[in-house]
Amino acid sequence: MHPECLECGLKYEREPGYFLGSIYVNYGLTALLVTILYFTLFFTGWVEPQTALWLVAGFAAVFPVWFFRYARSIWLGFDHYWDPLPVESRGDVKEPYPR
Ligand SMILES: [Zn+2]
Repeated sequence: MHPECLECGLKYEREPGYFLGSIYVNYGLTALLVTILYFTLFFTGWVEPQTALWLVAGFAAVFPVWFFRYARSIWLGFDHYWDPLPVESRGDVKEPYPR
């Protein structure tokens, strides 16, 4: 991951541990999808409940690894929407930060 935006120079990681919040995004979406997937498989009867359990367990192991970078992106967007950096602390940002 680049330390800052190549277009506008915005520094991505504001402080150490900044992207810890992206874990919440990743976990939350994984848990939501696993719940929906399991109950869908369970109540439709497409597969045996034990098979459904193994399927969602596999999904829960693979999905967060694949979704890692997108979770960071969502976290970054969320944080910059609700808590934008003040103009004077944006470093060498080339142009006014779009709202
Ligand atoms: Zn940018």
